[in-house]
Amino acid sequence: MNSLQTSSAPSVAVSDGPRHLAEHTTARVGGPAGDWIVAETEGQALEVLAAHPLPDDETRAAGEDSLLVLGGGSNLLVADAGFGGTVLQLAFEGIAEETDGTSSDDAGSRLVRIAAGHRWDDVVAWTVRHRLAGLEALSGIPGAAGATPVQNVGAYGAEIAQTLVDLRAWDREAGELVTLDAEALAFGYRESVLKRTTLHGSPRYVVLSLRLRLAHDGEDTLSAPIRYAELARTLGLDPALEEERRRAPLDQVREQVLALRAGKGMVLDADDHDTWSTGSFFTNPIVPADMAAGLPEEAPRFPLDDWRVKLSAAWLIDHAGCGRGFGAELTDGRASLSTKHTLAITNRGPAGTGDLLAVAGAVREKVHARFGLDLHPEPVIIGAEVAAPGSR
Ligand SMILES: Cc1cc2nc3c(=O)[nH]c(=O)nc-3n(C[C@H](O)[C@H](O)[C@H](O)COP(=O)(O)OP(=O)(O)OC[C@H]3O[C@@H](n4cnc5c(N)ncnc54)[C@H](O)[C@@H]3O)c2cc1C
Repeated sequence: MNSLQTSSAPSVAVSDGPRHLAEHTTARVGGPAGDWIVAETEGQALEVLAAHPLPDDETRAAGEDSLLVLGGGSNLLVADAGFGGTVLQLAFEGIAEETDGTSSDDAGSRLVRIAAGHRWDDVVAWTVRHRLAGLEALSGIPGAAGATPVQNVGAYGAEIAQTLVDLRAWDREAGELVTLDAEALAFGYRESVLKRTTLHGSPRYVVLSLRLRLAHDGEDTLSAPIRYAELARTLGLDPALEEERRRAPLDQVREQVLALRAGKGMVLDADDHDTWSTGSFFTNPIVPADMAAGLPEEAPRFPLDDWRVKLSAAWLIDHAGCGRGFGAELTDGRASLSTKHTLAITNRGPAGTGDLLAVAGAVREKVHARFGLDLHPEPVIIGAEVAAPGSR
């Protein structure tokens, strides 16, 4: 490691030789980066960010921002040709309880600040150990804490929006530190202001730390209400119980979620190619109710309001003729849908980004041909894209 010589101290470590995104993404694909900077402290990150203001919209739309912010690389696909600019890897860690001058302790909750680079699943394990409730159903999600509000990570009936109070971020447009609360972040399904202001992987806001409010009721603190039927069943909870009372011991919830996820290839395991992915590749489509009414009766659907229905992308993919393992024939076996779950596109060996995107394009095409619906990729894709239906 050398030192980056900039006019303002402190200096930041920058890597010697080229580093490849494939070594830092869970799908293990992506070419080399121009420069690679690992920020071990928030101060180091701020130094780099101040030197990379937000480019104009035209530059961003062309995918030519010179900065790529990296957490754990679990929701990111970069082209095989690589990224010519600077990768800023946020590696600063830390979890600390805070007070905000209110009587939150007495009210049965705790305020916790988490540094952006802290490994997310270590955060969840820490909260379970400290008998703090609210994150347990988010066990096993890869990546770093700072990325969790970007797409409002969610699983098994929980999402980060349920506990996030506010976050500290660097606003690259204004060139200043800002605090954004949950309301300002305008969370939706896999959505937030952070994501909506990111263009081709170029973020306006870079998250430095989060504050969460977590429930605490002493040693016997129970989980947040279990909203996901499959999880409630495995925990032995009576489905007839009203939701507020559907709670279980924190460590049992964590254990069951990890087991359910492992069965679907959704917990990272270096020996299991089904986990060499970005998790779910497509978001669940949200469509007008009348459009959903035209689908086969057995298609799972979750009404959101009077007008909109959320569909299951996994079901649509499966019933469009793309079963588990689909796509191997398109890539000489290098990439395919997971053999455990139709929503993950996996690297079976020496795959490149192009292989994963070829499978994604074929899936998108088939779902469109069968159901007339266009699936949208969940991961951030830089320097490449998934072919739109009808374009192949
Ligand atoms: C096996 C597997 C299972 C998964 N399961 C789930 C799941 O159940 N639910 C779910 O929601 N997701 C899931 N994911 C997706 C992914 O883990 C999450 O989206 C995660 O929060 C991404 O974190 P990361 O640090 O790896 O982000 P990265 O991949 O490093 O970055 C993703 C995007 O966020 C931006 N970004 C990263 N950090 C910051 C920051 N501090 N400030 C601003 N922008 C930032 C990056 O620039 C990039 O655009 C899964 C992925 C895998 C591989």
